[in-house]
Amino acid sequence: MKDKLKVDPIKNGTVIDHIVAGKALQVADILSLNPPKNLMMIGVNLTSHKMGKKDIIKVENRILTEDEVNSIALISPSATLIIIEDFKVVKKHGISIPDEIKKHIVCPNSNCVTNIENVPTRFEVACRKPVEVRCAYCEKKYAIDQVRFKF
Ligand SMILES: [Zn+2]
Repeated sequence: MKDKLKVDPIKNGTVIDHIVAGKALQVADILSLNPPKNLMMIGVNLTSHKMGKKDIIKVENRILTEDEVNSIALISPSATLIIIEDFKVVKKHGISIPDEIKKHIVCPNSNCVTNIENVPTRFEVACRKPVEVRCAYCEKKYAIDQVRFKF
């Protein structure tokens, strides 16, 4: 119930709850790439019964796209999405790490064809814990913290 109080203040929008503590800014970066026109609130190191510490993000008047959710899942698989309508929770669900992600990760390898020609990237998830992704073109593997997202 204590968690619920922190969810209440937005009228309509999405709450990303149970983000791994310290990862909220990375998640916010993803959301900012497709710039939010509305209020976004970021809470860091909140107390959580489930996790000890957690981060939380609330975005007003916005439903996340599947690509955004998949990207967030790579950064914080523990996250829960809560959809708020008229101050009420209408939907609440966990997210899961996708098998692959297209277009939205920039390959850090400057010699990769995706950086030389304008080829959309494709990354496969090579490891789920900790999350590592592999470029389908140059086949190099990266920890999720080593890559940059673009939207
Ligand atoms: Zn590559």
